Amino acid sequence: MNDDTQNYRLATHGVRTGQQRTHEGEHSEAIFPTSSYVFESAAHAAARFQGDEPGNIYSRFTNPTVRTFEERLAALEGGERCVATSSGMSAILSTCLGILKSGDHIVSSRSIFGTTSVLFNNYLAKLGISTTFVSLTDPDAWEAAITPQTRLLFLETPSNPLTEIADIQVLADIAHRHDALLVVDNCFCTPILQRPFEFGADIVVHSATKYLDGQGRCIGGAVVGSDEVVGTDVYGFLRTAGPTMSPFNAWVFLKGLETLAVRMPAHTQRAGELATWLEQQSGVKRVYYPGLASHPQYALSAQQQNGAGGLLSFELDAGKEAAWRFIDATRMISITANLGDAKTTVTHPATTTHGRLSDQERATAGISDGLIRIAVGLEDVEDLRDDFQRGLDALA
Ligand SMILES: *Cc1c(COP(=O)(O)O)cnc(C)c1O
Repeated sequence: MNDDTQNYRLATHGVRTGQQRTHEGEHSEAIFPTSSYVFESAAHAAARFQGDEPGNIYSRFTNPTVRTFEERLAALEGGERCVATSSGMSAILSTCLGILKSGDHIVSSRSIFGTTSVLFNNYLAKLGISTTFVSLTDPDAWEAAITPQTRLLFLETPSNPLTEIADIQVLADIAHRHDALLVVDNCFCTPILQRPFEFGADIVVHSATKYLDGQGRCIGGAVVGSDEVVGTDVYGFLRTAGPTMSPFNAWVFLKGLETLAVRMPAHTQRAGELATWLEQQSGVKRVYYPGLASHPQYALSAQQQNGAGGLLSFELDAGKEAAWRFIDATRMISITANLGDAKTTVTHPATTTHGRLSDQERATAGISDGLIRIAVGLEDVEDLRDDFQRGLDALA
């Protein structure tokens, strides 16, 4: 990167960073759908393979479109290095298997993406990597769970669906006192609303499938961090094991990054208006949204984030029947568990994303039968309110 590029502000990084025009002078980034690359001579090939000369070799680990995405996201997060992966889950898997060995231990927030818990409990456990789950918002519990074998602390903030906020700086300090690394899944905020490295996080992982794409098209992920850990350990795993992002998907995500700085405040604006409105409606017991003064960590969220984000939840006075009636009475918003899309989505966590938990586990997690999660999209907020009103009318 030249000096200009390093000084870009976030929105400019999202639009400009990482592009290298070819001799064709294309304005939009090129897609390079090629599995391998040719060399000028046998000696040239040998130099590339031995790492004496940088350059493309094989698209499992070197592809120009994927590299442009990686450089752009690394710049947005403020990390030295980014490694793009085939999905958010393979970003988390690559982080764990690149860094950890049998006998190592993870301390993880209990309020994480369900499949991440399954990865830790069922698959890493099989390899002798154990995990202790603790409350996202209780730093003493994190500290108490750490053992001499603990290498990683793992969290998402805000949590989904209850939007609890972790104090990243406090947990980073705890991690570093014990020679462990703090990994933050920054899927819900994206670097536009939260930059975990500024608060001491060591690694940021993403499901690019969500807001980075922003229009619900492709599956992908990314790991961002230092040259040493991400550029060596995580990249080493990725180039060997091969959970690689395709050039086409990298190109779609590049286009997503170009509009990210415009979209995230737009999601936040709509979610904030709807959360405020919902809080005033009868039949609604409680609204969970970090941008509301009633949120227990309103102040922390305001200090750590540049906006409360697009995700909100609310609890109806009545239980499952009421929640389902609300959902079925809406006509525009999409009934689906995905999020981070221009299209607003509605989910009933107790019977979908958290449906496999026991009643007891669901109660511990705070997922009541009357809870509804909304990932607010980019439609006009008046139309969204009209649709929510249909849901509330159906409760009467
Ligand atoms: C969706 C999601 C993932 C997994 O990402 P995929 O791209 O679906 O593999 C991980 N973490 C969070 C917070 C997610 O929402």
